[in-house]
Amino acid sequence: MTPAIPTTIFERMSRAAAAAGAINLGQGYPEMAEPAELIAAAVRGLREHSNQYPPMRGLPGLRQAVADYYAAHQGLSIDPAEVIVTSGATEALAAAILAIVRPGDEVICVQPLYDAYKPLVEWAGGRVVLVSLTPPDWSLPVDALEAAITPNTRAIILNTPNNPTGTMLSHAALSAVGDLCAGHDLTLICDEVWEAMVWEGAEHLSALTIPSLRDRMIKVGSAGKLFSLTGWKLGWVVAAPALAEQVAARHQFLTYTTPTPLQWAVADGLALPRDWHDAHRDRYVPGRRALVDGLRDGGYVVLDNAASWFVTIDLTASGIGLDDETFCTRLIPEAGVAAIPFSAFYAAAPETRYVRLCFAKEAPVIQTATARLAAFR
Ligand code: PMP
Repeated sequence: MTPAIPTTIFERMSRAAAAAGAINLGQGYPEMAEPAELIAAAVRGLREHSNQYPPMRGLPGLRQAVADYYAAHQGLSIDPAEVIVTSGATEALAAAILAIVRPGDEVICVQPLYDAYKPLVEWAGGRVVLVSLTPPDWSLPVDALEAAITPNTRAIILNTPNNPTGTMLSHAALSAVGDLCAGHDLTLICDEVWEAMVWEGAEHLSALTIPSLRDRMIKVGSAGKLFSLTGWKLGWVVAAPALAEQVAARHQFLTYTTPTPLQWAVADGLALPRDWHDAHRDRYVPGRRALVDGLRDGGYVVLDNAASWFVTIDLTASGIGLDDETFCTRLIPEAGVAAIPFSAFYAAAPETRYVRLCFAKEAPVIQTATARLAAFR
């Protein structure tokens, strides 16, 4: 019998928050007005376009729109043939991992890690080898990464911008990863779903900009994150043709295609002007400010986050003697706020000093939450 698979921490905390009527700063989904342009585009997609199977790799117009978006926003040169549309980044990750990993392969994953990576690697018959980012700036320990490589290593999975830390890998770190991948003939799967949610002038640097990685990596993106429509579950991979071919072969038997009307809508959304995308992102700024300021005013030590919808509090530095699980478990009934413990993002030797909070809410909701958090400590 296969081992039991626990329900994700996000689902568990959301359920507990709903049962207790708590403010849910745990799971990363926005509770704000949804972008009207995208909703209108989805209605057009339903009414004016076909609702039948699109091509297996995605609507040509959407694959072109993804390539054009990355050219305009990240300076990448991508052929639409290198884009495969998937049912969310989750399916993109599954198709990528199944395409790359063979039984007995080792895959280096970096903790804290998004919770889907490890089970997907294991379902492909691979073994996860863990390397941990170094707190409190969560830098990538390149020496440890290199030391983890063995003759069985097949791939590295990275996540930049990172969930849960909200930090981004530097050019130097990505170049070092490129050297390692080229030197040891490894594939990089780079989960870049948070690429558009960057703050205070920070700029996302795609691993695809590193020449040595261009043909040996799979970039993963998500329209759910780009447009704050997490329930749409529309994502993609970008990879050089030979790799894209391998990913497509898996995608065709995972989901085959992704709802056609949403593909039309996302194509329209990606083509919206730069100003629109900037304004969409900036709607999160008041909530982020309210959360960081409110937590600091309440005596919490908050780490810098350059990206994502999350901020991190350091419990020890905040003078709180609880571990992260206990803090989050008590927070729901006692303070009426849900958060996610960092230990949930560790597959081994968890960091138990940190807690992730999501600010993708209207500022008044965040202000109520931070008042409750201040009273809790
Ligand atoms: N990767 C990371 C790092 C994420 O944070 C998420 C969503 N929280 C995903 C992948 C999954 O994205 P999607 O909803 O498009 O499947």
